[in-house]
Amino acid sequence: MTDRILTINAGSSSIKLALFAATPMLPMLVRGQIEGIGAAPRLVLRAPDGTVLDQHAIEPARVSDHASALDALLASLAPHLGRDLVAAVGHRVVHGGATFVAPIAVGDTVMSALRALEPLAPLHQPHNLAGIEAARRAFPSALQVACFDTAFHRTQPWVSDTYALPRAYYERGVRRYGFHGLSYESVMARLALDAPDVARGRLVLAHLGNGASLCAVSGSRAQATTMGFSPLDGLPMGTRTGQIDPGVLLYLMTEDGLDAAGLADLLNRRSGMLGLSGLSNDVRTLEAAGTAEASGALDYFVAHTVREIGGLAATLGGLDGLVFSGGIGENAWRLRARIVEALGFLGVDLDVAANRRSDPVVSIPGSRVVARIVPADEEAAIARHTAAFARSERP
Ligand code: ADP
Repeated sequence: MTDRILTINAGSSSIKLALFAATPMLPMLVRGQIEGIGAAPRLVLRAPDGTVLDQHAIEPARVSDHASALDALLASLAPHLGRDLVAAVGHRVVHGGATFVAPIAVGDTVMSALRALEPLAPLHQPHNLAGIEAARRAFPSALQVACFDTAFHRTQPWVSDTYALPRAYYERGVRRYGFHGLSYESVMARLALDAPDVARGRLVLAHLGNGASLCAVSGSRAQATTMGFSPLDGLPMGTRTGQIDPGVLLYLMTEDGLDAAGLADLLNRRSGMLGLSGLSNDVRTLEAAGTAEASGALDYFVAHTVREIGGLAATLGGLDGLVFSGGIGENAWRLRARIVEALGFLGVDLDVAANRRSDPVVSIPGSRVVARIVPADEEAAIARHTAAFARSERP
């Protein structure tokens, strides 16, 4: 019998879960997810190499919320768990506010503190917390650990952390929290193993997926990031605007009478590459479409990503490494080539063939700035935090 560590990533209509052996190398044993909670739920369980172990649709009435979804996933996981004990459950929590700068064990007091942060991330935090509640019921004696997407950025200096509002707003929590922190932690951990010299340098980490952000790192510490108070700021994304003049919002409120709900819908769901293309938020679809609007959306994504990377390189006083992750960063070689080539003036030299193959290193040998691809592995980051916590709690 070996202790197991479970990680849970609960979104609005999905739960992703992964099971690890609590041994020093923390090998992943199995991972699974349910999508379409409350609508058309579908469960998939996979081996670490991606082989499908179980896949089936579930009657919507049986999986109507996070608790029943977790039950269904655990039932499918049971043969892989056997008589082993889930000693700790690690959770992805999008917002830790200004207080939570590191993972923390969740009891009733912490749960209340996390609930108080819901207004800061209304689209994500309630679902993350529903996942914790479900896990507390399913594993009452296991340690529950919350791991935060904001925590990685808490080392950034005040000038990166604040807005130029009256100071009282910073004090009451209107700050640039930044997100994708667990992805960045996993990238830095991998880089420290594969390329320790690069990991110690001045880096821009580019998490480019449906949600997209950049993080400037030096001395392995976060210095600035493109997402801010919410995950809306910075780069253009699949359906989110990214950076926008707040004057546009004032104009739409005054001229069109848009209220908070209307603006939230426009900025979060109808903008970005979907809004610009009028077609899709998906880079593969846009690349295949070849229409002027689809190309324009991709051009906008490349131009603004280049501009923001340039800004962060200035913040760092120069650049030693550029690291791509996320669905676009890891796979969309055409966009990656355009971004790296536009940044040639910073000293990064693209290896065209390596980039086409999406190799781990996509700059030529001798390029002053190294460009690499490091797949994000948020589950591994959560498992590492949770295992460390479980070890430190042991009498
Ligand atoms: P999320 O933020 O939802 O986790 P992902 O990291 O999965 O998103 O990234 C999704 C994006 O990655 C989509 O725009 C998708 O088109 C893009 N993508 C994935 N694979 C490829 C590929 N082979 N070529 C181009 N784009 C890709």
